[in-house]
Amino acid sequence: MVKEVTPITDVFGRSLRDLRISVIDKCNFRCTYCMPKEIFGDDYPFLPESELLSFEEIIRVAKTFAKLGVEKIRITGGEPLLRKNLDQLIAKLTEIPGIDDIALTTNAVLLPKRATKLKEAGLKRVNISLDAIDDDVFTKINGRGVPIRPVLRGIEAAKQAGLKVKVNMVVKKGMNESQILPMARYFKGKDIILRYIEFMDVGNHNGWDLNHVISKKQIIDRIHEEMPIEAAEENYYGEVASRFRYQDGEGEIGVISSVTDSFCGTCTRIRLSADGKLYTCLFASSGYDLRGRLRDGITDEELQTNLTGLWKRRTDRYSDERAERKHENRKKIEMSYIGG
Ligand code: SAM
Ligand code: SF4
Ligand code: SF4
Repeated sequence: MVKEVTPITDVFGRSLRDLRISVIDKCNFRCTYCMPKEIFGDDYPFLPESELLSFEEIIRVAKTFAKLGVEKIRITGGEPLLRKNLDQLIAKLTEIPGIDDIALTTNAVLLPKRATKLKEAGLKRVNISLDAIDDDVFTKINGRGVPIRPVLRGIEAAKQAGLKVKVNMVVKKGMNESQILPMARYFKGKDIILRYIEFMDVGNHNGWDLNHVISKKQIIDRIHEEMPIEAAEENYYGEVASRFRYQDGEGEIGVISSVTDSFCGTCTRIRLSADGKLYTCLFASSGYDLRGRLRDGITDEELQTNLTGLWKRRTDRYSDERAERKHENRKKIEMSYIGG
């Protein structure tokens, strides 16, 4: 099929390439740095199903974005595997001309049940979040007392189904820095790329403080001392993880240093939240109410015009500006709505 694309750029000349879709705001974990159970407890007003975008609405939006240059889609949440029939959505997204990469970010607990269906639907890869390889540390982080075994089973199921797996570990001082080396040792040589993520100031409830951030340099130095690594080249334009390969040939690791290096200059990402709002930055405080427009009967042409205008007006560069402490009291969208 011929791909009819009208690529667009924002105010700083950045193209639109990636769409992240949060399909649900609920989660089966209560990670302390994301959805602390003191806030996201039994009375938390999660979205009723009618307020989530339907699969038809998501597909319509994705098709429009593909016409504007989006090539990659990432499905996230909350916990995306809690959304019923997710494989059906993925199957439809893979049919969209121009979309050549679909990935899923998950805590993996439900993967043993779902991995094969997801693969059959056309999913090629998953990013699995795992912040520790020690049960005591992990049970405390996920807030639900879940040991690591179910996550490891999820990783195994994904590999068995033929999905490529990366593991993401958020590193936060006082929470899991003790796990930097044990995680590296565990995944080294297993054909799974482990990526360390600097703890970010997303959302409003995780009590973020710069003192909680363990920097990319600290992480790299610690690993290099025991398991020598060397820098590897970028895989593609705008890759957010810096890559390092083990000198003994046993694979590689990545570090996503969103706090100590900012990469706004190459940021080609737009995000669709679980309640159908569009955000041109992970740290935005307000979004564009797409769900309202879709349900008010916007035409395809108007939709394309509106999305084009939204991207063309984009001036976000929060991480670049963080150092200038411009946004200290800004209210931000929660990670469980926008999905990372
Ligand atoms: N529930 C799924 C999971 O955990 O993989 C998908 C949604 S979760 C919000 C997406 C990613 O964001 C996870 O890898 C999580 O660790 C990361 N994340 C959440 N809060 C973060 C923070 N404050 N700083 C850095 N990463 C964060
Ligand atoms: Fe749930 Fe993912 Fe947030 Fe943990 S990081 S609470 S698994 S959404
Ligand atoms: Fe992109 Fe915003 Fe992150 Fe900068 S701060 S890289 S603009 S999401």
